[in-house]
Amino acid sequence: IFFLVLGISLIAVAVALNVGWILLNLRQVVLLVLGIVFFAVIITGLTLNTIFLIREIRRNEQHDAFINAVTHELKTPIASIKLYLETLKTRDVSPEKRRDFYDVMLADTDRLLGTVEQVLKAGGAKEKAQRLPAAEIDLGDLLRECIALIRSQRNLDESVIRFTEPGERLAVVGSEADLRTAFSNLLDNAVKYSGNEPKISVRVKKAALKNKAEIVIKDQGLGIPPADLKRIFKRFYRVPEGAAAQTRGTGLGLFIVQSIVKRHGGRVSAQSRGEGTGSTFLVQLPLV
Ligand code: ADP
Repeated sequence: IFFLVLGISLIAVAVALNVGWILLNLRQVVLLVLGIVFFAVIITGLTLNTIFLIREIRRNEQHDAFINAVTHELKTPIASIKLYLETLKTRDVSPEKRRDFYDVMLADTDRLLGTVEQVLKAGGAKEKAQRLPAAEIDLGDLLRECIALIRSQRNLDESVIRFTEPGERLAVVGSEADLRTAFSNLLDNAVKYSGNEPKISVRVKKAALKNKAEIVIKDQGLGIPPADLKRIFKRFYRVPEGAAAQTRGTGLGLFIVQSIVKRHGGRVSAQSRGEGTGSTFLVQLPLV
């Protein structure tokens, strides 16, 4: 706040000086022109400085939020695993209970691994030099696999995710593992930000124009405020208010999705009519 007030006050003083200077020196044209130029330079510098400060402040806030989120994401499963291990060590637990404990611990380990992998992927996502493998990937098969995975990970009923198969074989070239990560992130978000009764539809089709595939992942969940539709793809960004802010997350998922899709020569965008109206994510990828 100090730096913001300083920047804004300095701009105001410089503008006042500039106007005063013009009024006092109307006749001394050369001085006047020089003065105007110098003050214009000072004012531009101060404005740039203030804009830079505002951006730094926002970035700092996002970093803090990210560190809090990651700490929480790491601590919760570790605390849970520790508790189960202590119980197993100190109490006589029946074989069925023991099996349940192992299942919970495995789920917690998966959660830990997921968080660590996301952080690692986000770290490497900006490296442009990575070469893409030249494998041909069938989008229909890949999406079917991702949907099956999310159904089993989140214990979802078959009817929760409706999948419309493409009428023809649609293949893209690139990294199957990366594209699986991208679609899994989008599907995971669709479930995560849908409240208690998720209803999701996934469609793959050939775009009307150009040789592109379109993948549409639509949910009827919490929705996204219009001002955030572009920002959600930035690293660490999470919608700051509303029900989505209460849901756990690191703000890295969509950043990773966008990096992967871009590396495959495609685009990803989000559409939503605002909070409570559901969201639609559209991925476009060039076909073989
Ligand atoms: P995370 O989910 O870990 O917070 P993401 O990068 O995946 O990070 O998402 C960024 C933000 O975008 C989320 O915090 C959430 O507010 C919003 N968002 C993403 N997907 C959806 C969705 N399907 N519905 C509503 N909001 C979403």
